[in-house]
Amino acid sequence: KPSTSHTHSSSISKTKNLDGYVGFANLPNQVYRKSVKKGFEFNLMVIGESGLGKSTFINSLFLAELYNTEDFPNTFERRRKTLFIDSTSVLLNEKGVNLRLSIIDTPGFGESIDNSNCWQPIIDFVDSKYEEFLNAESKINRKLPILDNRVHCCLHFIAPGHTLKTLDIEVMKKLHDRVNLIPVIAKADTMTPEEIKTFKTNVLNVINDHNIQIYEFPDIEDDELENNRSNSALKSKIPFAIVGSNTVIENEGKPFRGRQYPWGCVNVDDLSHCDFMALRTMLIRTHMQDLKDVTNNVHYENYRFKKLAYVTGDKAKPTNKNPFQQLEEERKEAEARLEKMKNEMEGVFDLKVKEKIARLKESEVNLEKQQEAMRISLEKEEKELEERRTVFLREKQIWEESNKEEEDKLRLSLEKEADK
Ligand code: GDP
Repeated sequence: KPSTSHTHSSSISKTKNLDGYVGFANLPNQVYRKSVKKGFEFNLMVIGESGLGKSTFINSLFLAELYNTEDFPNTFERRRKTLFIDSTSVLLNEKGVNLRLSIIDTPGFGESIDNSNCWQPIIDFVDSKYEEFLNAESKINRKLPILDNRVHCCLHFIAPGHTLKTLDIEVMKKLHDRVNLIPVIAKADTMTPEEIKTFKTNVLNVINDHNIQIYEFPDIEDDELENNRSNSALKSKIPFAIVGSNTVIENEGKPFRGRQYPWGCVNVDDLSHCDFMALRTMLIRTHMQDLKDVTNNVHYENYRFKKLAYVTGDKAKPTNKNPFQQLEEERKEAEARLEKMKNEMEGVFDLKVKEKIARLKESEVNLEKQQEAMRISLEKEEKELEERRTVFLREKQIWEESNKEEEDKLRLSLEKEADK
């Protein structure tokens, strides 16, 4: 019997368990097989001053020599300096899963005498990849899948020291709304754990103060993480302080990538030595897809929006703001408008109330005046009546007096006659 459970939704109101196996449970596998066949692509950009160990880091990241070292068979070090933005693609295969990885190496900035606009080539490169993708997407006969050369992640190498340099801040400001920016502290082996801790706090404070939006690692559960190492523990390591090495050292028969010093050695993969493993885990194992999603949904959309707004000559002029910031600003504007309207309405209301009160006062005064006038006229009338009454009484008295004489005479004569 199918068991039912009630939900509040109107269209799908019941969850049913099926009696038998239909087969759509295999859908994730189908999607999986399709994706695996297609392979994955990931484009990683590294920026920062030269000599901070960017190339070394990349090689350590994928446990492979990504740069062609045939020219220098006896060394892992790269001899040439990166002068132009240079993209290297390799096809990596792990347990049958293909990953086309492109590393975009950039010339170390801050080397010239005039470093203003040293970020421009990087911006141009990032934008040109968006442009390519947009063009491929807008073609009528587009060939699928579109090759995705967009920069999915940009590792910003920071020199060890006390705090971020002005140039670093400037570059971050220019890039943060274009790509997923992840700051990393290079050559962490040159600092003590205490120094690293202070440096990290300083860097995060500066980033915060300048409203720089670095990539936010969302919480993603991964049951396979060793030692149940939680996502948040890895996240707390931002900005990752890393050590890179292309040298394999052996310690008690166990080979590892590390750096050897007279006083001991750093194991690059050891989390208690540096954050390299944390960064690698998040970059490759847990957050690669999210980095790609954010690139597509936020940064590319942002580029597309600016571009289309510009093309259609829309009122919305191309801005350098990211959509979230823009939304937030529009929300604030709307709120301010509403507040202004509210204030105006309140003003009008106050005015009306005042007018009404004034009118009431006026009519009260008028009434009082009328009452007073009435009282005065009544008083006047009363006085007049009183005067007339006095006049009348006096006349009556005179008349009575004059009549009395006549009356007496008449009575006397009448009495005389009666006597006869
Ligand atoms: P890039 O110019 O940024 O690509 O730097 P490279 O990878 O070419 O490295 C420059 C130098 O720094 C090389 O001699 C590396 O061996 C060295 N290096 C790389 N990573 C580290 C590190 O984590 N710590 C230390 N102390 N040196 C490093």
